[in-house]
Amino acid sequence: MKYKKTYYIITIGCQMNKSDSERVAAYLEKHGYSLAKSETKADLIVLTTCGVRQAAEDRVYGLVGKIKKKNPKGKLILTGCLSEREDVRQRLGDKVDLWLPISQILNFKFQILKKARNPKPETRNCDYLGIKPKYSSKFSAFVPIGNGCNNFCAYCVVPYARGREVYRSAEEILAEVRDLVARGYKEIVLIAQNVNSYKVKSQKSKVKRINFSRLLRMISGISGDFWIRFATSHPKDMSDELIKTIAECDKVCKHIHLPVQAGDDEVLKKMNRGYTREDYIKLVKKIRNSLEILNPKSEILNKFKIQNSKPERFNPVSITTDVIVGFPGETKKQFANTVKLFKEVKFDMAYIARYSGRPGTAAYKLKDDVSLAEKKRREEELIKILRRTALENNKKYLGKTVEVLVVGKSRKGEWYGYTETNKNTGIKIYDLRIKNIIGKFVKVKIIKARDFGLEGVYTKETK
Ligand code: SAM
Ligand code: SF4
Repeated sequence: MKYKKTYYIITIGCQMNKSDSERVAAYLEKHGYSLAKSETKADLIVLTTCGVRQAAEDRVYGLVGKIKKKNPKGKLILTGCLSEREDVRQRLGDKVDLWLPISQILNFKFQILKKARNPKPETRNCDYLGIKPKYSSKFSAFVPIGNGCNNFCAYCVVPYARGREVYRSAEEILAEVRDLVARGYKEIVLIAQNVNSYKVKSQKSKVKRINFSRLLRMISGISGDFWIRFATSHPKDMSDELIKTIAECDKVCKHIHLPVQAGDDEVLKKMNRGYTREDYIKLVKKIRNSLEILNPKSEILNKFKIQNSKPERFNPVSITTDVIVGFPGETKKQFANTVKLFKEVKFDMAYIARYSGRPGTAAYKLKDDVSLAEKKRREEELIKILRRTALENNKKYLGKTVEVLVVGKSRKGEWYGYTETNKNTGIKIYDLRIKNIIGKFVKVKIIKARDFGLEGVYTKETK
């Protein structure tokens, strides 16, 4: 029997990196490689890297050393955020066999794995997204709608690592979603650095310019029982038109991940975020008024004359965020404004990052003058508030019956999943006839609320 070459992929970082790895896997398999059991056995090891924070970068240095020690004959390919950083290339030197910025994967010739240190880009930054991925899940799929970022937030490496914004055509995205839905997928997660700045010109559609709101409507129009989730939304691009679309499309999950990054106007300005604390607070109120309460006095409902057709329905929305503590020069007084914002907005979840200087970014030139101990203290203060507000929000679910997408069963035998608002939910099933509901929508009556999760009793399978 002919020996088949093998590969193994290690992924660090965000949803976009996970999705990129799914495309790399598919591409390698198309070129005759098969998946190895571990990195120690593989002919080819792909490391999809993240450089958003120093800790993620340090993990890569550790992993490269370990892989080379355990599998000296394996060829190591480094892709992701760090693949174009000259200082990283110099530091890792010959330990890496091929540096492969993800957008150049289509140029990669697997038969001649040479030290092609700088393959010439012949493709657009998002052409590789046309590769049909090897999805990791059988019911939930990441569908990237674009790549890159134009915003140049002062702390962020993404515009340098992934380049300027480029978007996939609506036709290509729709074709991928149609195929997934036909195969029974229940959740489509649209991803990009800023999904809501999506815009393309279309030759094929009647609508010549397609923005994110339009794209959501087109995807919602695909028949089938599935949820549409999306991340990340930039507050400055959250238009009234988009809020109206989210309100009107039942398939669109009422979960908005809206990174605030800081709650102080001076810090926001230094970060180059393009909005003020007041803008952000007003935006969250507008979203909640329009989606959650379906309030007859809602600006958006009135502006667009939407009928409040479901006044009795329990219709929660969840607002989650990213925030950075200890940005250069952030004083205690400025941080107190972030604390105030957290108390006012009452987030459902927040990803709190300690500032970490990134080479090449504007903030890298500023002194990283908030000590690590103080960053940790600020992080803990925000976590305390978050726990309180998330619990308060979750208590509203008590006694209500909500839809949950079942994603697994724990070692203790308890089923679990999440709601459309992205609340992790443990599911008790007393009906012994229920055998396998992974990847299905079920109705669950909520009996317990914790800060970061819910618990409920299975009532029935819905779709
Ligand atoms: N596009 C999204 C937005 O507008 O907020 C965020 C994408 S970024 C890759 C993911 C998160 O990493 C950011 O929201 C931010 O909180 C965090 N992050 C980015 N650069 C950072 C840095 N230098 N130090 C600490 N956290 C950082
Ligand atoms: Fe980074 Fe800002 Fe772009 Fe988000 S919007 S990816 S934080 S530069």
